[in-house]
Amino acid sequence: MPLPIVAIIGRPNVGKSTVVNRLAQVQDAIVYDEPGVTRDRTYKRAFWGDREFLVVDTGGLVFDDDTEFLPLIREQAMAALAESSAAIFVVDGQTGLMPADEEIAGWLRQQPVPVLLAVNKCESVEQGITQAAEFWELGLGEPYPVSGIHGSGTGELLDQLILHLPPVTEGSERDEIRVAIAGRPNVGKSSLLNAFVGENRAIVSPVSGTTRDTIDMVVEREGHIYRLIDTAGIRKKKNVEYGPEFFGINRAFKAITRADVVLLVIDAVDGVTEQDQKLAGRILDEGRACVVVVNKWDAVEKDPYTIYEYQKTVRDRLHFTEWAEMIFISAQTGQRVEKILGLVNTAAEQHKRRVTTSVINEVLEDAVKWHTPPTTRQGRQGRIYYGTQVSTQPPAIALFVNDPELFNDSYRRYIERQFRESLGFTGTPLRLLWRGKKVREMERGANRATKV
Ligand code: GDP
Ligand code: GDP
Repeated sequence: MPLPIVAIIGRPNVGKSTVVNRLAQVQDAIVYDEPGVTRDRTYKRAFWGDREFLVVDTGGLVFDDDTEFLPLIREQAMAALAESSAAIFVVDGQTGLMPADEEIAGWLRQQPVPVLLAVNKCESVEQGITQAAEFWELGLGEPYPVSGIHGSGTGELLDQLILHLPPVTEGSERDEIRVAIAGRPNVGKSSLLNAFVGENRAIVSPVSGTTRDTIDMVVEREGHIYRLIDTAGIRKKKNVEYGPEFFGINRAFKAITRADVVLLVIDAVDGVTEQDQKLAGRILDEGRACVVVVNKWDAVEKDPYTIYEYQKTVRDRLHFTEWAEMIFISAQTGQRVEKILGLVNTAAEQHKRRVTTSVINEVLEDAVKWHTPPTTRQGRQGRIYYGTQVSTQPPAIALFVNDPELFNDSYRRYIERQFRESLGFTGTPLRLLWRGKKVREMERGANRATKV
């Protein structure tokens, strides 16, 4: 199911992009190829609680037809709104209500999309409420004072927002594991696909993917259902009607975005190339689970040490996916092909695994005892108050700390290692969100204020 989209709307300079970045939280989480998404806009992945969605900045909305290209910008905003489940209308609490806000509000009231009103730049707790109150006049319901820069107020806004997102569908669609077979040309993707679907005991049926030219294959094995994503893209590559980019990296990226688990297929004869690293990077950015499949193992001359040397080289070159399991196969002879699905099952389970807060805090307590957080030269020391898992697919753990800046990369890596050592999470990326205390206190202050 595609992720719900939330459009951010408002006139220029009210802080839309700042608010988008604040809501997205995960850095570099720009999404281009989610189904139903176009390239003209920048989408970012965001979540709140266990709801995931995309936020899209629509660009500044101006109602002034004197300039030639303005209607075009507006058309863009309309198109963005048409694909959205909800909109956040951002206004500027410091400049106050402007005629342009009224125009946009009038237009928004006619759209069939729920609208939340965010009054930005309200970082001042005392003034924020008064600044926001002025916007009741727009007739769009309660104005939420927020500060994109400081992060205050966004919690309450998000609480409201997720009430407007479509419910997550339950049932069979959720039980299938979506698998993408990704790799550069000629590594053996279609051979692997044939090995999966060519066997008699598989129940195979093609189903339509998200766009006209994608076809998924559904395969059933031992009670598990696997949806192999965009098999048309893998198979049709020899068809000359399609240009090279049709089967190129964009198509692979699209498949990765839709997958739960990505099989990153590597050619054992060629070893890990730059293109392989690019795909691996994308898998990590998108937070997909992954199994590294080293194919053409039959074509490699081996002695008893070869596999270990190989493992090490591949791991070194794909160090950012060190959490992924690796398997050496031959799509041609069928060697170990069936074992892949076992690894897929594990990766998919871990990808949606949820760990209780008490277990997370046990791990943290231990980790901090073995290795205390760094202290600055001025004597300030990092403190971790507590951690809790905030989402799955991939698992993300928020760590509430006194000041995120006090935790350097090496300490952050240490904590991640501790989580992996104690809890596993084999096959899935794990996200740690380091959250400062200051922001939370402000948020609470602002929330309390709105409830008065
Ligand atoms: P956009 O054009 O609506 O996307 O606005 P930007 O996000 O680029 O922000 C416009 C200006 O407002 C920038 O100078 C930001 O630094 C500033 N700004 C954004 N959010 C806040 C905020 O929460 N408080 C204050 N004081 N300024 C903000
Ligand atoms: P794709 O472009 O990734 O779909 O790759 P193909 O499945 O079309 O395979 C590319 C070439 O590699 C073909 O000539 C295959 O016969 C060969 N190939 C695929 N898998 C294996 C394998 O396991 N061992 C060997 N030796 N060759 C393979």
